[in-house]
Amino acid sequence: MSVNQQAHAGPPYGQPQPGYQGYQQPAYGGQSLPGVPQSQYGAYNGPMPGYQQPVPPQGYFPSLGFPSKGSPVSLNSDTSSLAPNFIGSLRAPPTSGAPPPASGASHPSGHLAYSQFEHGDVQNGIPASAAPMQRPPAPQPFLPGSAPTPVSQISTFQQYGPPPGSVQQLRNHMAGMTIGGTAASAPPPAGLGYVSGSFSATGSGLHTPYSASQGPPPASVSEGLPLAQPPFPGHTVSTQRLPTQVPAFTPPPPSTGVAPSSYPPTTGAPRPPAMPGPPLPGQTVPAPPSSQPNHVSSPPPPPPPSTMAGLHPGPPMSGLHGPPPPTHPPQPGYQMQQNGSFGQMRGPQPNYGGAYPGAPNYGSPPGPPPPPKRLDPDSIPSPIQVIEDDRNNRGSEPFVTGVRGQVPPLVTTNFLVKDQGNASPRYIRCTSYNIPCTSDMAKQSQVPLAAVIKPLAALPPEETLPYLVDHGESGPVRCNRCKAYMCPFMQFIEGGRRFQCCFCSCVTEVPPHYFQHLDHTGKRVDYYDRPELSLGSYEFLATVDYCKNNKFPSPPAFIFMIDVSYNAVKSGLVRLICEELKSLLDYLPREGNMEESAIRVGFVTYNKVLHFYNVKSSLAQPQMMVVSDVADMFVPLLDGFLVNVNESRTVIASLLDQIPEMFADTRETETVFAPVIQAGLEALKAAECAGKLFIFHTSLPIAEAPGKLKNRDDRKLINTDKEKTLFQPQTSFYNNLAKDCVAQGCCVDLFLFPNQYLDVATLGVVPYQTGGSIYKYAYFQLETDQYRFLNDLRRDVQKEVGFDAVMRVRTSTGIRATDFFGAFYMSNTTDVEMAGLDCDKTITVEFKHDDKLSEDSGALLQCALLYTSCAGQRRLRIHNLSLNCCTQLADLYRNCETDTLINYLAKYAYRGVLSSPVKTVRDALINQCAQILACYRKNCASPSSAGQLILPECMKLLPVYLNCVLKSDVLQPGPEATTDDRAYIRQLVTSMDVAETNVFFYPRLLPLTKADVDSDSLPAAIRNSEERLSKGDIYLLENGLNIFVWVGVSVQQSLIQNLFGVSSFSQISNALSTLPVLENPFSKKVRSIVDMLQGQRSRYMKLIIVKQEDKLEMLFKHFLVEDKSLSGGASYVDFLCHMHKEIRQLLS
Ligand SMILES: [Zn+2]
Repeated sequence: MSVNQQAHAGPPYGQPQPGYQGYQQPAYGGQSLPGVPQSQYGAYNGPMPGYQQPVPPQGYFPSLGFPSKGSPVSLNSDTSSLAPNFIGSLRAPPTSGAPPPASGASHPSGHLAYSQFEHGDVQNGIPASAAPMQRPPAPQPFLPGSAPTPVSQISTFQQYGPPPGSVQQLRNHMAGMTIGGTAASAPPPAGLGYVSGSFSATGSGLHTPYSASQGPPPASVSEGLPLAQPPFPGHTVSTQRLPTQVPAFTPPPPSTGVAPSSYPPTTGAPRPPAMPGPPLPGQTVPAPPSSQPNHVSSPPPPPPPSTMAGLHPGPPMSGLHGPPPPTHPPQPGYQMQQNGSFGQMRGPQPNYGGAYPGAPNYGSPPGPPPPPKRLDPDSIPSPIQVIEDDRNNRGSEPFVTGVRGQVPPLVTTNFLVKDQGNASPRYIRCTSYNIPCTSDMAKQSQVPLAAVIKPLAALPPEETLPYLVDHGESGPVRCNRCKAYMCPFMQFIEGGRRFQCCFCSCVTEVPPHYFQHLDHTGKRVDYYDRPELSLGSYEFLATVDYCKNNKFPSPPAFIFMIDVSYNAVKSGLVRLICEELKSLLDYLPREGNMEESAIRVGFVTYNKVLHFYNVKSSLAQPQMMVVSDVADMFVPLLDGFLVNVNESRTVIASLLDQIPEMFADTRETETVFAPVIQAGLEALKAAECAGKLFIFHTSLPIAEAPGKLKNRDDRKLINTDKEKTLFQPQTSFYNNLAKDCVAQGCCVDLFLFPNQYLDVATLGVVPYQTGGSIYKYAYFQLETDQYRFLNDLRRDVQKEVGFDAVMRVRTSTGIRATDFFGAFYMSNTTDVEMAGLDCDKTITVEFKHDDKLSEDSGALLQCALLYTSCAGQRRLRIHNLSLNCCTQLADLYRNCETDTLINYLAKYAYRGVLSSPVKTVRDALINQCAQILACYRKNCASPSSAGQLILPECMKLLPVYLNCVLKSDVLQPGPEATTDDRAYIRQLVTSMDVAETNVFFYPRLLPLTKADVDSDSLPAAIRNSEERLSKGDIYLLENGLNIFVWVGVSVQQSLIQNLFGVSSFSQISNALSTLPVLENPFSKKVRSIVDMLQGQRSRYMKLIIVKQEDKLEMLFKHFLVEDKSLSGGASYVDFLCHMHKEIRQLLS
């Protein structure tokens, strides 16, 4: 039995045996094929050549010479008084709390003043502080490894509130939708409601796809949603209400239970099908991708030039073909693609006036206007309905992973996972679980083949963490050729003496210590004893061969680096951080049952210069060392900089007490930034360990130093060809720095507190490429923002992180990982390197064919993540996933996941804006999706009128979600979105998992006044449109970053009293950042909903109170994504019509 549930105490490592050389090149290499660059992991056995390979940094184009609008105003550059002041305060630390007077104000310059202390002179002789050591406050917010409060919960598990809604709930919801409709649109007649000729002419709606009164959905899957011109009444009813993903769902075997607490499984779980795949003698050798990873490849060709609407006649039955629209000059945005024809929708549409802003007269044909037409919003696919249906259908049974190519429940469904041979969807989700056999088919469909991988995802308590497997001193058993790791799909042959690789078909000897007999079915008799033979996810203990320089790593270190310039001090931020750290340091990540964290800590403060602190346990008081030569950063002390928290508790507490006092009177407004990262990097290098820098920064680094920046913000660039420069870093300096950081395993988490532009696009480069996180608190106010910041900080410090990580995705013959999206660095085309990878980060991987696939063998993915745990243990986490392959396009469309598709498309587009005009990126997105849907229509749908929009069941939300991506601030900024906001969002989305992108692009909108105060459930969500809001109700909208509470003007006075504690609408303050704690059921219920939502997200959301018809309402309306947006984004209805037109063009 070599299964361990706990951390290994003593590694039994010895010399590797031949053939299992860990990371020596072919080792971590994928198929070690000629022409494919060898793995840089040979690096780990030598002087790190792998990190020296000059490769263009991912996705960034260094560019210089941006227009500058001038530098931020510097309040006072009187640096001369600084050094003596600091030193003085350390020499005589205040016992009264008052900082000593600045004694050196007469020095002519800061540099002069510093000269005697440069290069790390230690200021000794600090008298002991009289301040008593401060005990950490009560630990309730920081229970390690658990979730003491909703705010610090590990929230990967998407608990979408209520258990799968009942049918009653559904009906209530439907009723609500009908009520919410505008008067202009009469409720559609039950069942049919088609009007021959056009759906839009009468306002009666064309159909009622989701009427609760209809019967159960038919089993047909090949049809979609008719948008117009149903051939015959009655026919369409059976073609539009289709089961979601039913064909793909195989019920779990009845004998299997959920959540085993012990291994091996006791039930006779079904074997995952073995898919060895015969050797392919003629296997083609894939050439290395010629383009650099993380560069956007050239976008798909632009859509064919729009022709006049007259070239796209409606279906023969159409009696409502309006006259051709007027021609307009091309306009930015959609207008370029507009020809005035939205399929059959012509003429003015009440409430949807001009289809796209900028073309207000759009669609108003000359001559007498035809009768008003509109598409009934209730008749088009509803995200709410799809989410609800999936919850009802799939939320009650565990998702058992034993079957190949099984589509998991949606991310919005609350379900348990039972690993029976494939990785849980919490670790990997795919755009499709059935891959076309040939590259031609894949190209024809235009459906991207991608996997969104979250290797260290947190699991709900009911599920079991991956088991740790130790294969002894020779390391994990792997294929000799492609170096894939032992997994459930390897085929044992010759009585168990050899195994055939499921990825490359090569046959490998089973090492003697790993030999086991086979049973009569060819399965090893220890099958259930070994996670690597029966589970989709597990971990291997890595040997020394998997370590840099053939040395086991030291435990990682955390370095806290605090901006102590004027703004940071004045806002109270410095004091807040120091106070928080005093208690937070007791909750550093720990391994399993360890009593204390192995992580060491260090402290730096900085403005234009850096201050290092010696907090060695033997000192009575901390010592400060000032480094003012920021051009050539070094660490002035080794011993005493990184310390164990428990050992140095007194000195650390004293330091954290003194820092706010020391800088209380600072007048320094300028900061450096790159030298701060360099300092942390050098400290980790000196300590020979990986680690994380927590940098708290407030301003654009304009002080003279490497990496100095200028203010180059320019909103005039929006919608020009130069817009991309706003997303690019202004200097390549940070790219090079990031590369050095990754080589050392130095991950950077950046907390920003800007009062003006600080160039997130540039400052974010290092956090982004090292796998770190960025948090931004614009116009930070202690009173309103501290709770949010502290919650983010607590979670960030405590969350699970793998350090010095490298990920490789192997695939079975026929497909290959070709592109990667996320926060990481790549020095070759296959290895994704991250200085740190935490439990929230995802990497999206795109696959392309390099050969034919077979339906029999399917396709396999193996994601291997090598990392150092928080205790310094080197491990490999393995996730395996088997997919089906198809020769019929219909099978592809039946097994797609739109949420994952959108995750991929958003990341693809957000990378595209670095190199292409935003309009080009938007057009390419639209075109690709139109092609996807047109291919379905052409090849999979039964013949029907060209006037009908037919959507695949699994992709019926593609248009609405795509529109949300197109309207997002990165691709179409609203007036309130700053350049920094856009750069920030762009980077955030790139690491998001599928659940996060889902709610980010289509926010959740809950009618709070409909909440049942007596139950734990959430009120049923409603669609994101203003017309769904009632002025007598209160709503909550969340998107993962913000929570809005919208209050209608006619809300009952008693509700306002209960929720806000004021007597009238006008008295509600929209300055509130939390809801008042009031002792009544409604207040309690709403606050519990807010807490529940906060607990589900990886960041603490900002709460914003919005009163109807108030100024802030504009901000709120930006998130009502089914409506037309102020920035020119189309409404859902209009966009659907636009997509329809695009599809018809492609088909004609
Ligand atoms: Zn192999």
